Amino acid sequence: MAVFNRADIRSLDEVKQTGYGMPDKPETFSARATIMHIKSDNISYPACPTPNCNKKVIEDAGKWKCEKCSQSFSAPEHRFVLHFLCE
Ligand SMILES: [Zn+2]
Repeated sequence: MAVFNRADIRSLDEVKQTGYGMPDKPETFSARATIMHIKSDNISYPACPTPNCNKKVIEDAGKWKCEKCSQSFSAPEHRFVLHFLCE
């Protein structure tokens, strides 16, 4: 759970220039920024509930099917994908 921590405040320029979290290492930081635009389409998708799978599931006759796991589930886990621009 991310908590706003003043010691973790980074500027967005610093994050960008130092390649924070790159290439694939998740990092958390705090920032104060103004959101300029939020892409409103596709804010979430139905995903496979298997841990670490996260593949999009397809509804088929009331079941949600994951092609990666070859399993069906009664309900998907909705995952949020938030794209926004800030400065
Ligand atoms: Zn899966």
